[in-house]
Amino acid sequence: MNVTERFLKYVSYGTNSDDANEKCPSSPVQLELGKFIAEELKVIGLERVEQDENGYIYGFLPGEGELKNAPAIGFIAHMDTSPSVPGDNIKPAFVDYNGGDILLADGKTVISPVDFPEMTALKGEKLIVTDGTTLLGADDKAGVAEIVTLVENLKKSGTAHRPVAVAFTPDEEIGRGANLFRVDRFEAKLAYTVDGGNIGGIEYENFNAAGLRLKVHGVNIHPGSAKNKMKNAILMANQFLNMLPEAETPAHTEKYEGFYHICDITGDETLCTVIAIIRDHDLKKFAERKEFCRKACEYLNSVWGEGSFECEIRDSYFNMREQILPHFELIENAEAAFRSVGVEPFTEPVRGGTDGARLSFMGLPCPNLSTGGYNFHSCREYIPVSSLEKMTKVLEFLTK
Ligand SMILES: [Zn+2]
Repeated sequence: MNVTERFLKYVSYGTNSDDANEKCPSSPVQLELGKFIAEELKVIGLERVEQDENGYIYGFLPGEGELKNAPAIGFIAHMDTSPSVPGDNIKPAFVDYNGGDILLADGKTVISPVDFPEMTALKGEKLIVTDGTTLLGADDKAGVAEIVTLVENLKKSGTAHRPVAVAFTPDEEIGRGANLFRVDRFEAKLAYTVDGGNIGGIEYENFNAAGLRLKVHGVNIHPGSAKNKMKNAILMANQFLNMLPEAETPAHTEKYEGFYHICDITGDETLCTVIAIIRDHDLKKFAERKEFCRKACEYLNSVWGEGSFECEIRDSYFNMREQILPHFELIENAEAAFRSVGVEPFTEPVRGGTDGARLSFMGLPCPNLSTGGYNFHSCREYIPVSSLEKMTKVLEFLTK
């Protein structure tokens, strides 16, 4: 199978993960796809291929030639797709793209360069699209197909290459992909996740993230006799919200700008609970943001009485940058790999977290590479065939 055939085979399994299911994997079909992939890896000739009880797949391809004893390089992708869009009965179709709108087979969904200007660069490409009713699953089956095709090509060609460790994880889309990953089982000390978008993307910076839970305790008294007695927790909470810098919200920030984001507020005069998240790429600024919230509560307690504002802040995840910098050759090699197929690499800070970020803090430095796909988590998801082919070559370059 070439990389395109392989990709189409994988998307024939509808593998949306399911946040409501506590099990791992959260949807049984991920085990079926995993079984198919594990079988492929064995046939290709990888060693110690395993589908473990949680549905994680591991495999190892020994090095070849003068690179036989070089340090192994790892590649990781996820098998599930996003539950936010229908993901069963995917009907992929090829489109020879000559510019303009693409009308999908459902007769109403349009992918237009007006909404997606990056399409203008894809004239002359063969694109794989959906019928408009489901996602495509290039996120991340393109990554899986590129990695499996890579090891198949290496094995067939017999050319010199480093040892290669591969792993495929379940449930990335519901934030659990790294949870049961066995870093000590994985046979490489450095790796890439292949889970990004447009070809050329290299991601090694993500947010530092914390969650804030604020409990505001008021005093409720009949409004008719409340003078100088009532402390309305709703108004008190509002006072806290108004102290946060107005321009530092997700709606007013981009790139490296951090923010405070209020996600939820519930309550009444007696008790009001505010849930917020705090994000910043810069660790120092991140600490300052958390401190700002604590100080605001300290001040408000001095106004309203000790214990009125209870502020709990918990770190969720950290920027992988610090873990990647000591291994910056990962980034330089990736840049050279993209250039080797005529693609200019670009790096963008991720305004969120990635599984690779979590793995980086579990001891496996792991920047993220593009898959070549577009419009993830959407019925308008598509991928150029040439991106699948080029990414396979990019990964091959990284084994040399
Ligand atoms: Zn993904």
